[in-house]
Amino acid sequence: MNALVLERIHEISLRAIDVHQEMGPKDVRVKVARVGICGSDVHYYTHGRIGPFVVEEPMILGHEAAGTVVAVGSEVSSLKPGDRVCMEPGIPDASSKASRLGIYNLDPAVTFWATPPIHGCLIPEVVHPAAFTFKLPDNVSFAEGAMVEPFAVGLQAATKAHLKPGDTAVVIGAGTIGIMTALAVLAGGAARVIIADLSAEKLKIISQYEGMIPVNVREVSLKERVAELTDKWGADVVLECSGSPRAFDNLLDYVAPGGRIVLVGMPVEPVLFDVVSAQAKEVTIYTIFRYANVYDKAVALIASGKINLKPLVSDTFKFEDGVAAFERAAEARPSDIKLQIDLE
Ligand SMILES: [Zn+2]
Repeated sequence: MNALVLERIHEISLRAIDVHQEMGPKDVRVKVARVGICGSDVHYYTHGRIGPFVVEEPMILGHEAAGTVVAVGSEVSSLKPGDRVCMEPGIPDASSKASRLGIYNLDPAVTFWATPPIHGCLIPEVVHPAAFTFKLPDNVSFAEGAMVEPFAVGLQAATKAHLKPGDTAVVIGAGTIGIMTALAVLAGGAARVIIADLSAEKLKIISQYEGMIPVNVREVSLKERVAELTDKWGADVVLECSGSPRAFDNLLDYVAPGGRIVLVGMPVEPVLFDVVSAQAKEVTIYTIFRYANVYDKAVALIASGKINLKPLVSDTFKFEDGVAAFERAAEARPSDIKLQIDLE
């Protein structure tokens, strides 16, 4: 079976690879239809590592997938062949303490697609636990199904933010995850989202959504804009999605007294943070790592029409052109929100 394999840093090939795909009684076999390219896939391609995860052996890329069930294990009753599905890429040990506590994303033994040494899903067929495979309603396309994974990150952030109806939120960074977070926050009840970035192209894409207030921080002071829009009180929630260490210098300028900050972006190095200013506002700070228990909710929101992710798929490549898709992703064009690969 041909797969899109990261051989080593800067080298991807589409080639036959032998992978262990035995199906257990609780697994399903899925014919993969659509896979999104994630920033992490691109980072492994261009840097060969993310923190402690180093690509040492050839690894199949991809973790954002949707497809069709072709076979089910003997104990699977929730799914049947022909069901259209999306797959949650992180599989914890079901008996671990983290799993029992419902925070299975924090299980140290979790295996996650395309995180070395685990193979990803850019291969025509995958075997996956039924418990982490979610049925797509007829009105949700494979392209949207493959967007559930990045949207789940936004939904985890919005859930952690403890949103209340009518809240004002600030989202720092309008990259893919910033946009997903902003949409999830709106769906979670925020009246408006002030979203800041340096890229006019990215802000243009997000401004097509009602409730978004784009702020180009190249031209306008975000601090002044937030003060102006909130009668100098500040935002109820600030969600940091840029991962830029410099963003931390100003987070407390945007948040209201008693407000919440959610850290979504991952700075590559430790950052300085003004603890006393945070205390003076009694700010609550949350962090997120991937997501847990949000996939079904993400699918429901997309199916309801409350969330429209379709305009965010910037381009789709054929599986045969998968290498070119990664070259394009590595260019990081500001107008590209999500590139996908079509395996149908
Ligand atoms: Zn992803």
